Amino acid sequence: GDFPIELDTVVIGAGPGGYVAAIRAAQLGQKVAVIEKGNLGGVCLNVGCIPSKALISAGHRYETALHSEDMGITAENVKVDFTKVQEWKNGVVKKLTGGVAGLLKGNKVEVIKGEAYFNDKNSLRVIGEDSAQTYTFNNAIIATGSTPIEIPGFKWSKRVINSTGALSLPEVPKKIVVIGGGYIGMELGTAYANFGTEVTILEAGDEILNGFEKAMSTVVKRGLQKKGNVEIFTNAFGKGVEETADGVTVKFEVKGEMKEVAADYVLVTVGRFPNSRDLGLENIGVEINERGIITTDKQSRTTVSNIYAIGDVVAGPPLAHKASYEGKVAAEAISGEPSQIEYLAIPAVCFTDPELATVGYTKQQADAEGIKVDVAKFPYAGNGRALSLNSTEGFVQLISRKEDGVLIGAQIVGANASDIISELGLAIEACMSVEDIASTIHAHPTLGEISMEAAELSMGHPIHMV
Ligand code: FAD
Repeated sequence: GDFPIELDTVVIGAGPGGYVAAIRAAQLGQKVAVIEKGNLGGVCLNVGCIPSKALISAGHRYETALHSEDMGITAENVKVDFTKVQEWKNGVVKKLTGGVAGLLKGNKVEVIKGEAYFNDKNSLRVIGEDSAQTYTFNNAIIATGSTPIEIPGFKWSKRVINSTGALSLPEVPKKIVVIGGGYIGMELGTAYANFGTEVTILEAGDEILNGFEKAMSTVVKRGLQKKGNVEIFTNAFGKGVEETADGVTVKFEVKGEMKEVAADYVLVTVGRFPNSRDLGLENIGVEINERGIITTDKQSRTTVSNIYAIGDVVAGPPLAHKASYEGKVAAEAISGEPSQIEYLAIPAVCFTDPELATVGYTKQQADAEGIKVDVAKFPYAGNGRALSLNSTEGFVQLISRKEDGVLIGAQIVGANASDIISELGLAIEACMSVEDIASTIHAHPTLGEISMEAAELSMGHPIHMV
């Protein structure tokens, strides 16, 4: 018999959106279950943020071991045992997903294995490996994430891979072709370039890392070109692939000219599609747009009032911290709190060499909205810590309102941009001005001082610049 089990709130998907929403809802006193058909932690922990950052940091260590001659360090016999690298990376993932299991248990969130499908707006069915169960609920949160997009002419195979495949290659390839110069392609391309792979990047647009301004992506491009084993084609379109005995031949078009390149693998990272199909949403009136994105309001509520949606399956940047943030808002909204989503202060980071980070307004966005701003840009090369790290490429740029100096945006390209951006996100969130940042004492010598100097520059009196 299939007697329905009653729940207050059911969460579908245990990625950084879903598991965080489930914990927050449980903290607020609800009886919660989270349904997951794959692994706890979703894309982010299993095949996204975490394993990619692990490979990136391993590749970075190898590369710096080989190339620190200008600091007087040479090394011989530096080797990569990629099986061990993979084992280490898998261990990192396991620690984190195990941690999520413990957190869910500790918060009394029930974890249900299986695939969810809505019957109506107050019940769903979960199909497990050899069982099916109906659950009724007062509220549901859809956190089903997204999946890599397959493009015509490049059917997934052993050698035509997506980001998931690229994260678990058995060996360091001699050569890979990356189709799509967005942040996922550039991160993975950089990681393998650091391990010594020859990398060819094909980007359809005019610039790689579209979304970051040109002055920033240029720094990354320069860094890649310096490595010597990375080739970038822009306005380049993958046309098809032929699998050979031990690799692939990729055909592509650049400015009307057909070209061919042989490689071990072709990695396709052209975007991700929201997992909004196969959930039965059309039966219950949850609106989805033509790109598969579920329509939501400022509290993550869908067009059906007791059903919420968060993360990669809704609009906004497809990032883990954005998914978690929306998860908290949805859980709080269900509990009757007035929490609301504010997209502007959500940072975005790209872990290339060097890193890129942005939060709040860009100059372009401010202009588009008619906000008069001051732009202050201070270079890494003027900072003692950057020099002592031998990482002098890059800058911190502050966007502040002309009328009152309030910080509304910041962009960074340079070493540890991913860490420095947090302070500037806080400043934006707290409506601080460049004067507040300039008069905050920053420890010396640290990269954080670049933000302080940029703030002084914005006010017209930088100490370390004439
Ligand atoms: P997901 O993490 O996709 O989780 C959704 C879960 O729902 C999955 O586990 C899935 O199995 C489950 N599910 C789907 N349908 C059903 C169903 N019907 N029933 C039951 N379960 C279901 N973001 C960052 O912020 N920083 C980064 O550095 C970063 N790096 C990335 C690197 C790579 C290679 C990739 C691919 C992504 C990266 N991202 C990064 C993006 C990040 O992983 C996603 O934004 C994030 O995982 C989205 O979270 P989510 O909770 O919406 O969905």
